[in-house]
Amino acid sequence: MIEFANNLEFAKQMDAQDSLRKYRFEFYFPRSGERTQALYFAGNSLGLAPVNARKYINEELDDWAHFGVEGHFEARHPWLSYHELVTAMSARLVGALPEEVVAMNSLTVNLHLMLVTFYKPTKERFKIAIESDTFPSDRYAVQSQARFHGFDAAEAILSITPRPGEDLLQEKDILDIIEKHGKELNILLIGDVNYLTGQAFDLAKIAAACHAQGIIFGVNLAHGAGNLVLNLHDDDVDFAVWCSYKYLNSGPGGIAGCFIHQRHGQNLERQRFAGWWGHNKETRFKMGPEFDPLPGAEGFQLSNPPIFQLAALRASLEYFDTIGMVNLRAKSKLLTAYLEFVLLAIPGDLFSIITPSDIAQRGAQLSVRVKNSPQNLLKQLQAKGAICDFRQPDVIRVSPAPLYCGFEDVFEFGQILEKLVKG
Ligand SMILES: *Cc1c(COP(=O)(O)O)cnc(C)c1O
Repeated sequence: MIEFANNLEFAKQMDAQDSLRKYRFEFYFPRSGERTQALYFAGNSLGLAPVNARKYINEELDDWAHFGVEGHFEARHPWLSYHELVTAMSARLVGALPEEVVAMNSLTVNLHLMLVTFYKPTKERFKIAIESDTFPSDRYAVQSQARFHGFDAAEAILSITPRPGEDLLQEKDILDIIEKHGKELNILLIGDVNYLTGQAFDLAKIAAACHAQGIIFGVNLAHGAGNLVLNLHDDDVDFAVWCSYKYLNSGPGGIAGCFIHQRHGQNLERQRFAGWWGHNKETRFKMGPEFDPLPGAEGFQLSNPPIFQLAALRASLEYFDTIGMVNLRAKSKLLTAYLEFVLLAIPGDLFSIITPSDIAQRGAQLSVRVKNSPQNLLKQLQAKGAICDFRQPDVIRVSPAPLYCGFEDVFEFGQILEKLVKG
């Protein structure tokens, strides 16, 4: 590991050596407070707008104006098959086979669709395990699914809780829960990376433990896609869902992603909520009465997809695909470690970092617990030009997305924070 230094020369030198530096100029940075270009550390909440997103969406607007309905076939990128343009890139992004991934709907919708397919509760085996500090939407989804099947949600949902006085989950505790509740657990759903703590998990290990007990393993990659190096196929994850407006920069409310492992996707008997876009492409427009599912993740599509959203996603995914997640993650590890270094250099005890210090157990986010009025600190940071975000009750999340953040940004952030802390 490089020896870090908390000064501008060092940060500038790191940026100069960074082969991914040029991608920063492919994104629009907002203004913030004193700065015409923000120090942007909220890419885990909403990624920045790629310059190409505007270009690609404009192409589709032009083709719509030019072709009308014929654009389904005649557009430069025909809309009928437009979603296929992001398939291979999405597959490489999450370590999947192309047939295992599809861009569709939004995240919570996809989570519900996957639960419809995979949550088959019986009287004996009806529980769903999730992290106690899971994102609320995930909790609402699993609770309502349990109720939908006639179960008492309080009984059906098993929270995986950190040990008293701790913020993070211990892997051992997750594995113990799987072992102990193996016969009553139907599904284990985990957020990788956890949205609040920034903790990442060993998916292969958890998947193996789940499968040894006959439990379905689902992963929410809202904070993992475009952040971690993922190998969903080899890790034997059963299903995964992610939004693409965070690290993947597809724009607010952008189209989401879904992974279904090959062994499930190839089983056309698998129950699902069906729609015409999941129907056999050869006969879709024969408009027949019987649903004939496409094999793989595509067979779980419902509607013809939103082309403008796909265009924005395509613009961003091209960067990830050109760079490769292994390369991007290498920069990310360094950049986040530098942020940690800069934060730890600030004297006083106003804040502490709750994200794991082990690089293998985190992505590009550090969650900072602030003792006094965190929301006030957030506002002060913003006035100085640094954009982070706040999560209840006392956490400021700082996320240097490696695609467009640099070492100088991180250094500047440390300087600003140190001045604010000193008062
Ligand atoms: C961001 C996020 C969501 C948001 O869900 P949408 O359906 O996209 O609104 C859900 N779950 C997790 C873990 C998230 O981080």
